[in-house]
Amino acid sequence: MNLLDPILNFFRSDTEDFYYVKFERNEKCYCNSGKKYKICHYPQHSKSSKRAVRKINSLTGEETFKVLTIKRIRKDHELFKATVIQG
Ligand SMILES: [Zn+2]
Repeated sequence: MNLLDPILNFFRSDTEDFYYVKFERNEKCYCNSGKKYKICHYPQHSKSSKRAVRKINSLTGEETFKVLTIKRIRKDHELFKATVIQG
């Protein structure tokens, strides 16, 4: 199991109007290929330390997809945690 997975589940984005939710490997891939993410784009993302995420507008609920580096996700996750801790 990838040790990063727990922290990728939910995290803040770069603006306060959005949050990101991890794209699950068993979901159909965001590219509409009809295949599961884990056999479609995941292998290639995994090699380059990237992950697909849902970017959700917290005001309208509108969803889009993004591919982010794990480094970037970690950074945003740290910011999210810091925000929560500081209340
Ligand atoms: Zn795909």
